[in-house]
Amino acid sequence: MLFLPPAVRYNAAMSKDLKNLTFEQVERLVADFGGKKFLAKYIFSFIHAHHASRIDDITPLPKDFRRRLTGQGYFISQLETVETFVDPDGTVKFLFAADDGVRFESVLLTDAGEKQRKTLCISSQAGCRMACALCATGRGKFQRNLTAAEIADQVYQAVQHTEKINNIVYMGMGEPFDNYDEVINSARILNHQAGANIGQRHITISTCGIPHTIEKFADEALQVRLAISLHAAGDRKRQRIMPVAAKYPLAELIAAIKTYQQKTHRRVSFEYCMIKNLNDSAADAQSLIGLIKGINAAVNLIEFNPHEGCTFAASARSTIQNFKDILMHAGVETIIRHKRGRKINAACGQLTAKYLNPQNSNQTP
Ligand code: SF4
Repeated sequence: MLFLPPAVRYNAAMSKDLKNLTFEQVERLVADFGGKKFLAKYIFSFIHAHHASRIDDITPLPKDFRRRLTGQGYFISQLETVETFVDPDGTVKFLFAADDGVRFESVLLTDAGEKQRKTLCISSQAGCRMACALCATGRGKFQRNLTAAEIADQVYQAVQHTEKINNIVYMGMGEPFDNYDEVINSARILNHQAGANIGQRHITISTCGIPHTIEKFADEALQVRLAISLHAAGDRKRQRIMPVAAKYPLAELIAAIKTYQQKTHRRVSFEYCMIKNLNDSAADAQSLIGLIKGINAAVNLIEFNPHEGCTFAASARSTIQNFKDILMHAGVETIIRHKRGRKINAACGQLTAKYLNPQNSNQTP
């Protein structure tokens, strides 16, 4: 069984971070201060649409109101973009530092198609407790959960380097459902029309598959999409890739997904990383078809991105294509996701792992 130590609690000062508050929480704060209700919109929009970094930048707020907020310890946090790396294929990787020096990353992917859609892959934790064998983040040390502000701020920092971001995926460092409340709050913040106004259907939360949180997520009044990292259709193989599978067997996970779908009627995606001689045979494809039968889903076959310290190898492209053909023949919508950003270590956690390892600190990613 996977042992999960309690998540690190935030510093109490975090609750005074105005960027961390949902619109409704800002409304409550304004009411507590005896302010008029419309002031909440000024505060929220100046932080999340105009990227104010100081309370005094929220100029429509009466001076006395600003002074009282500051006097009571309220502030607006700001991520530092430590480095930005651009791959020849157009992928951009951002390394961020929070106020306490904790580092984490986001990756901006540009669709090669006509529409050049931009997807930002964001982190929900600094490090991760799930220890997946295919992931550089999983081998590093878990540091702490990110706040809703730190999650949303990755989008605000990245948007300074591109005209527009079309989609947000919670698929960077960390397991989003291991930081449930902050992740849900950040999605509400990013979606709010007074802020970044990113449509809920353009936001995807990707989980390694924690059944009780999938059921909880079904009860949120959100249209945010759900993706589940499957990587194998049998428990033993899955446990080799994801230790969390020992705690949550596939039968429990599939039952939770079916409950989710009964409640929401929303399609899910399954992420399936293609690993040579482990999960990529025709028999594996048939097992997958059987496992997800009856679920309204699409499968993303991900070309594995090998990295230092990982013994897995990538499946050949012809093997991935065969696997896809078997799924498609069975009526399962399947998309192949090829490796991106290889020259800048764009796989989850690779860049941060490199930076946090003193032996590598002089290497250029
Ligand atoms: S793949 Fe995701 S859940 Fe697994 S260790 Fe990496 S960041 Fe954590």
